[in-house]
Amino acid sequence: MNTFKYFPAKTVNEACELLSQYGEEAKLLGGGQSLVTLMKQDFVSPSYLIDIKGISDLDYIRYDETDGLRIGALTTHRSLETSAVIQEKFAILAQMESTLASVPVRNWGTVGGNLAHADPASDLAPTLLSLGAEVTLTGPNGARVVSLDDFFVDTFETALQPDELLTEIHVPNSSEGAGFYYKFAQRATDLAVVSVAVNLILDPDDQNLCRDIRIVMGSVGPTPLRSRRGEDLLKGQTITGTLIEEAARVSAEDAQPTTDINGSEEYKREIVDVLVRRAIKEAAARA
Ligand SMILES: Cc1cc2nc3c(=O)[nH]c(=O)nc-3n(C[C@H](O)[C@H](O)[C@H](O)COP(=O)(O)OP(=O)(O)OC[C@H]3O[C@@H](n4cnc5c(N)ncnc54)[C@H](O)[C@@H]3O)c2cc1C
Repeated sequence: MNTFKYFPAKTVNEACELLSQYGEEAKLLGGGQSLVTLMKQDFVSPSYLIDIKGISDLDYIRYDETDGLRIGALTTHRSLETSAVIQEKFAILAQMESTLASVPVRNWGTVGGNLAHADPASDLAPTLLSLGAEVTLTGPNGARVVSLDDFFVDTFETALQPDELLTEIHVPNSSEGAGFYYKFAQRATDLAVVSVAVNLILDPDDQNLCRDIRIVMGSVGPTPLRSRRGEDLLKGQTITGTLIEEAARVSAEDAQPTTDINGSEEYKREIVDVLVRRAIKEAAARA
C-alpha cells in the first residue's frame, strides 16, 4: 500500500474543501470496507485520504408521514437492519440488509459508501431503486438531488463529481408498498450472483390491481437494471399468475448478464426469471 496523507474531516464543508483542494488524488473514507481492501491490493492509491466517518451529522434515519424516509450517508447497514421505523415502514430494506455480507461488515459499511462504490453486486442499490429513491450530492457549490435511476453510470462509476460527497438518501412516502428482495449467492456471506428487488403498490380499492411496481435486477449488468417492460406489463392490471410469468420472462430478457466463474449468461437469465416470479408473488402476499 502506498503512503498517503490522512485528514479526519468533522464537517461536510471541511470534506468538500479538501476534495476541491486535492481533486482526483483524494479519496473519501467511509466505513473503509471496500476502499481499504482496494488500497491493500494496490488497485487504488490515493495520495490524500479524507476520513468522513466522524461527521456525525450524516448518521441518521428520519421518517415523516409526508416526506418519507431520509437516511444520512454515514448510516451503517446494521443501523438500517435494526431500525424499528424501517422494519415497520420499509421492511424490504431491513430484510435486504440481513442478507448483506456479515454482521461485522454491516457494522462498519455505510450506505453512502455502498452506493458511491457502485458495485453492480450491491444489495442496497437495487433495493433502493425499487423504492424510487433519490440521493443528495453535496459539493463546494451546494447540494443537488439526483434520482437513483440516473446515479449509476457504469460499473464502479456514478454521477458523483470528484469534489462531491453523497450526503443523503431520500425514499419518498409514495413508494410505501410491499416489497421483497431475493439474493442468489454461492454462500450466505458472498456477493450476489443474481439479485432481484420488487416493490409493489396495490390499488387501495382493489387489492388485486397493481397501481405501481418496480422490478430491479442486481449483478446482471454494469449497473442495477430495471425491467421496464416487466413493470409495464403489470402496471394498471389485475395481477394473475400468467402476467407474473410473462413479467418474469421479459425481465430475464432485459437482464444483461455475462458468463463468469459464477455461471453462464443463460444460467443467470434463468435465475432472474425464477427470482422475479418469486419476488412478485412474495410482494403481493405481503401487500
Ligand atoms: C467481506 C465483504 C463482503 C461484502 N459483501 C457485500 C454484499 O454482499 N453486498 C453488498 O452490497 N456489499 C457488500 N460489501 C460492501 C460493504 O457492504 C460496504 O457497503 C461497502 O464496503 C462500502 O461502504 P463503506 O462505508 O465501507 O465505504 P468505503 O470502503 O469507505 O468507500 C467505498 C467508496 O465509496 C467512496 N465513498 C464513501 N463514502 C462516500 C460518500 N459519502 N460520498 C461519496 N463517496 C463516498 C470512497 O471514496 C470509496 O471510493 C462487502 C464488503 C466486504 C468487506
